Amino acid sequence: MKTVKLLPTGKEFRLNNIFCIGKNYADHAKEMGGDVPKEPVIFLKPTSAVITNGEPIIIPSMSSNVHHEIELTVLLGKGGKNIPLSSAMDHVAGYGVGLDMTMRDRQSDAKKAGNPWTVAKGFDTSAPLSPFISASSIIDPHTLDITLTVNGEIRQQSNTQHMIFRIEVLISYLSSIFTLEEGDIIYTGTPEGVAQVGVGDQLTATIPGVGTIQHTIQ
Ligand code: MG
Repeated sequence: MKTVKLLPTGKEFRLNNIFCIGKNYADHAKEMGGDVPKEPVIFLKPTSAVITNGEPIIIPSMSSNVHHEIELTVLLGKGGKNIPLSSAMDHVAGYGVGLDMTMRDRQSDAKKAGNPWTVAKGFDTSAPLSPFISASSIIDPHTLDITLTVNGEIRQQSNTQHMIFRIEVLISYLSSIFTLEEGDIIYTGTPEGVAQVGVGDQLTATIPGVGTIQHTIQ
């Protein structure tokens, strides 16, 4: 059983479903050559994909083009179905930093063939996750700087204000389809600047006030 930690108390949550949002920043949707979505694009990662700060990210032999995607992550402390927008934020226990590692070559093959993204997005080590910081210590999750460096060079730098679908919208929307549960995680999408990683690269993903994770590519 995998658990995630909520700081500062250290309370543990059993890791449940991992919902991920695609193309939730307009400039990233553009760099992927697609339109800005009219409703959230949703996919899932298995819990087996999760690693914690410092563990290596392993490039699968089936891919020759793995990309980094830094994302603000949300831990739900309370589940629900058909959650109204007005109370959606009450379901958030905390916020974290995540990487949505992606086999871009496999994803683009899947898109062309009309196949699911599960392999491209759900492989082992594809979901690095920081511990979560209590929602009460984040004044506004929609004004956070978000930065990813590779070997000390900035690759992705943006702010969560640029999300297309805000967190309350994502929670309400997801809950209209899935029964949400305590321990669910939402990856809220990545800003522009996604790029390939190579063996030996050192990734540092930071959201000031929320957390930092560091991972080496193997
Ligand atoms: Mg992503």
